[in-house]
Amino acid sequence: MDAIITLDIGGTNTRCALFHAEKDDPVSIDRIETTTESASAIDNISQLIERNWPKDRSVAGIAAAAPGSIDVVQNKVILAPNIPNWRDFPLGEILQKRFGVKVLVNNDARMAAVGEWKRGAGRGHNDILYFTVSTGLGGGVITGGRILQGAVGIATEVGHIVLQDDGPACGCGRFGHFEAFSSGTGIHNYVCGKIKAGAPTILKSSSPSTKEIAEAAKAGDALALEAFNRAGYYLGIGVANYLHIFNPSCVIFGGGVSQSGDLIFKPFRASLEQHVLSPNYLANLKIAVAELGDNAGLIGTFEYMKQNL
Ligand SMILES: [Zn+2]
Repeated sequence: MDAIITLDIGGTNTRCALFHAEKDDPVSIDRIETTTESASAIDNISQLIERNWPKDRSVAGIAAAAPGSIDVVQNKVILAPNIPNWRDFPLGEILQKRFGVKVLVNNDARMAAVGEWKRGAGRGHNDILYFTVSTGLGGGVITGGRILQGAVGIATEVGHIVLQDDGPACGCGRFGHFEAFSSGTGIHNYVCGKIKAGAPTILKSSSPSTKEIAEAAKAGDALALEAFNRAGYYLGIGVANYLHIFNPSCVIFGGGVSQSGDLIFKPFRASLEQHVLSPNYLANLKIAVAELGDNAGLIGTFEYMKQNL
C-alpha cells in the first residue's frame, strides 16, 4: 500500500504527518517552526517532507492545509495572512515539481472540518458546520456529505460575514465581521477599549490575553464577563444565520476560545434560541466541542487526499 504525507502550515509551526493509506492514524508526526519569508518557507517545508519521506513504500500524494484563501483548482495560495509574500503562490505546483507526486492544497480550517467529520465529533453526520474560534474565526461546511468549497475554493470564509456594517475592525481590514465580535481577538480588543475608557476591572494589564480575560471572568470580573457574554451573543447570531442556510445536524467548535466552556456557550445558546427562525433548527442538533485537537488538520487532509486520489 501507498503512503500519504500531509502538512498543516500554521502561523507558528508547520506540522507534517506520514500516513499509510490503509491505516487511520498517522505513522509519525513531525514539526518545524513556520518561516514567514516565502523563499525559506518553501525550503523548510521541503526539508520537512524529505525527512519524513518513507523508505519502505511509495508516496501516492502530498496534501497541505494552509491558512488563508486557497485556490483548490490550481492548488495555489491566493493570500496567506501569516506568510505575507505568499500571494498567488503556486505551492502545489512547486511541491509537485520537487517531489514528483500529486499535491493538493486546501484551507486549514476546512481540512480540520473534514477531520472532525470523518474521525471526530462529526462522525455519522452528513451536514456539519465546523467553527474554529481562536485568534481568528474560521471554519468549514459539509453539506449533503460533500465538502462545500465554491467555484475555486474560497467559499465558507465563515468569520467574515457582516454582522454590523459600522462594527469593530476585523483582522481582514473590514468592519463588523463575525470574527471581529466572537474571536479571541474580538474579545481582547473589546476589553482593551473598555479599559482605556476607564471601565473598572480586576485585570492588571491594559492589554490582557484572552486567557487572562477568561480567568478574570471566572473570578466574577464584570468587564471580563461582559466581554464573553458579548462574544457568545454574537456567536449565536452568526451561527443562527448559518443554520438557516445549511440546516446542519451537527455544529462543532474547535480552537482555544471554545475551551472556555459556559463562559462562551451559555450566552451562545441563549442567543441562538433567540435568533433562529423556528425551534426546528435546534431539534436534534448536536452541538459539540472538537475532538481531534491539533491533529484535525493533518487527519482531514489525509481523508481529503484519499477522496481525491
Ligand atoms: Zn473580516
